[in-house]
Amino acid sequence: MSSTQHEATYDVIVIGGGASGMVAAGVAGARGKRVLLIEKNKRLGEKLRITGGGRCNITNDERDIHALLSNYKASKDFLYSPFSIFGVKETFEFFEGRGLPLFVEARKRAFPKSEKASDVCNVLIQYLKKNNVTVLNECTVMKLEIEDRKISHVVTKKGSEIKSYVGDSVVVATGGLSHPHTGSTGDGFKWLEDLGHTIHPPSPTIVPLTVEEAWVKELAGTSIGTTDAPMKITFFADGKKAFAKTGKLLCTHFGLSGPLILNTAKEVSDLLYKGLVTATIDTYPNKDQGTLEKHMIEVFDMNKNKALKNVFTDLAPKGTARVILSLLPHIDPETKTHSVNKDMRKDLSRLLKALPVSISGLLGFDKAVVADGGVDIREVDTKTMRSTKIDNLFLTGDVLHIDRPSGGFSLQLCWTTGFVAGKNV
Ligand SMILES: Cc1cc2nc3c(=O)[nH]c(=O)nc-3n(C[C@H](O)[C@H](O)[C@H](O)COP(=O)(O)OP(=O)(O)OC[C@H]3O[C@@H](n4cnc5c(N)ncnc54)[C@H](O)[C@@H]3O)c2cc1C
Repeated sequence: MSSTQHEATYDVIVIGGGASGMVAAGVAGARGKRVLLIEKNKRLGEKLRITGGGRCNITNDERDIHALLSNYKASKDFLYSPFSIFGVKETFEFFEGRGLPLFVEARKRAFPKSEKASDVCNVLIQYLKKNNVTVLNECTVMKLEIEDRKISHVVTKKGSEIKSYVGDSVVVATGGLSHPHTGSTGDGFKWLEDLGHTIHPPSPTIVPLTVEEAWVKELAGTSIGTTDAPMKITFFADGKKAFAKTGKLLCTHFGLSGPLILNTAKEVSDLLYKGLVTATIDTYPNKDQGTLEKHMIEVFDMNKNKALKNVFTDLAPKGTARVILSLLPHIDPETKTHSVNKDMRKDLSRLLKALPVSISGLLGFDKAVVADGGVDIREVDTKTMRSTKIDNLFLTGDVLHIDRPSGGFSLQLCWTTGFVAGKNV
């Protein structure tokens, strides 16, 4: 049998022990507030622990506030105020001042020197302890009760026990919808919608990929692979193999599309968090390079006096021979096939086994992560992170609908909004 009991009042209740919730709770605690942090998982920061492929791209070391904010697109003007209070410089000071030195990699992406996301989490857990924040783990907030434009009770369930907590201020830091196994199941969105907030739906995750290589764009309108002879595309993050898929690809004027690609968009969006994303297209997935070379010799033997450019059409996917040959400028397409030597054959077969592609992002998102939806930023006073609908409600992190690229910008948003909320609760 479950029972409802009323508990002692806290100055601040923070719902969600992720990146932004931990900062908000710690900062409020440091101001001497009595803070309760409620987290439904056993451990704090489950999502934070998997960021940056476990290395945690903690921020982006862009110190020019205008250049930094340009990454937050439509929300950039709303974020000027909070970022001028707690920006990249303050993030470095916060973590380095607590014994976690950072270093900066390509594209200004900053990581802890230890390259361990769990170390970032530990700094925050220590910060909560130092500032006497009461943490309630394995406790799920079920609903928020409202009286006179204020949250009067936070109703929770821990095991079979239902308890209701009272807080002068309530921070909703329950995250978005991506990777629900980490606890981000979008609970906050349901409550916030009931409280009168506008919730933007998550962006579609089935989108084409944009690529850097001109050769792909030159082949716009051409399919690579057929149902009978599918291609294999293998994706890499910072040179490390991530995953592969087999099927048909469509080249377009911006990059790659087709059902196979559309269905990889979500995985690629996660990969963009890990580093530079590249791919190789294997046009002969069922032949190893040696077998392909033997096949090439047979085809050349049958067409001895013909120019390579005319024979290569039998080897490359339909409609791609000229463009693929142009990727090997040291091989003259007019070369007679009997003069194609071993090294040239190796280069040709290697290319057919691994056409190079650099993924710049998802179409519609500039090097972006798919936005997971959330509260319209216009409904938040970004000087304080207070809701404009409910007087004692504050919102932080992924609960907000803010489109931004990968590269440390999401966590910076968590540190900034968490800090500002913590200062104003
Ligand atoms: C694979 C992956 C890698 C990423 N890597 C990076 C990176 O390297 N750099 C970067 O900047 N960004 C990265 N991000 C984005 C970043 O992780 C998020 O922006 C950030 O973690 C959001 O923090 P948050 O505090 O808003 O919410 P979350 O971290 O999602 O935390 C929300 C918390 O609320 C809890 N909660 C939810 N509902 C309830 C409830 N009803 N009751 C109690 N508790 C509840 C959840 O259990 C969870 O712990 C990555 C995201 C993913 C998915």
